[in-house]
Amino acid sequence: MPKEHKFGTMRKYRRVLFLSIVTFGIYYIIYQYWLFQDFEEHHEKAFETEPRAYPLITNPTTMLIFLFIFPFYPIYIKYTLLYDHIRTSCIQSPENCSIGIKAVLTFVILGACTFGIAPIVTESRWQRAFNEHILDHEHQQENIPERR
Ligand SMILES: [Zn+2]
Repeated sequence: MPKEHKFGTMRKYRRVLFLSIVTFGIYYIIYQYWLFQDFEEHHEKAFETEPRAYPLITNPTTMLIFLFIFPFYPIYIKYTLLYDHIRTSCIQSPENCSIGIKAVLTFVILGACTFGIAPIVTESRWQRAFNEHILDHEHQQENIPERR
């Protein structure tokens, strides 16, 4: 189950993958929608602790529509936003996801010839980077003394 944390929601990619296979991909589409909601949630909860970080704001509904019309666009946005957010945040997260264009190229070029394995690995790294970032927020918050 997705876990609610102080700075956002963490999801287990392995579970998502399993449920997606069982539902013939339908769960994966819903998962993409939730991720963009997770972005908004993280932005609301963590904004004050990282005011200079690249904001994780995008419209989940717009992204869902694009997923059907031109799926590379939401993929590109999802990677670019998280990559820039982690890179520019004062919360130090050692892990980051692929940059947007690299993720799209992995999907396009390596997708078919690796039987989907390369995109799945890229996706699981994306989720892991996001999960780690949420945890890093929590840990580094504890070390910062309360400001008056
Ligand atoms: Zn953050």
